[in-house]
Amino acid sequence: MVPLLRVMDHPRQPSQVKVGVLDDSHINAASAGNGEFYVTRGLLEKANDEHLSGVLAHELSHDDLGHVAKAQRLGAGLSIGMVILDQIIPGAGSLAPIAGQLIINKYTQREEYQADAHGAELLQRAGSSKQVMIDTLTWLTQTEGTSGGGFFATHPATGDRIQALQRAK
Ligand SMILES: [Zn+2]
Repeated sequence: MVPLLRVMDHPRQPSQVKVGVLDDSHINAASAGNGEFYVTRGLLEKANDEHLSGVLAHELSHDDLGHVAKAQRLGAGLSIGMVILDQIIPGAGSLAPIAGQLIINKYTQREEYQADAHGAELLQRAGSSKQVMIDTLTWLTQTEGTSGGGFFATHPATGDRIQALQRAK
């Protein structure tokens, strides 16, 4: 996550970033604005390194692009798991945990396309590739697409998102 922070249009210092871990078996992540992010236990358990960086690049893009959206309150049950977070996101030890109720911003489809494209750009700037974002969306579709919860509950999904990314240069 730290390399991605450095290549944002509006780079954030790790000390400015807070990550909360939600005790939820669904795969999800959110940008709550002001450098605050949430990830679920399900994401940390099921994602490989590539998928995790793809999801984080997407969420960082919402932040980087200044997307403002309606707040959506989800259930309580926030727990802080900085130990597991540090294992999976190198450098997360420098990230400050946050507690409190989860507010997830729900974005428009247009903003989702933008976050996908900008996330792919951030991955390329960080020395990775656009393909990571394509693979991540494919993995999310296969893993969470029919569950009725998780990523696609808060990230309006269409089958076009992967195709749009593939068409982009
Ligand atoms: Zn999104």
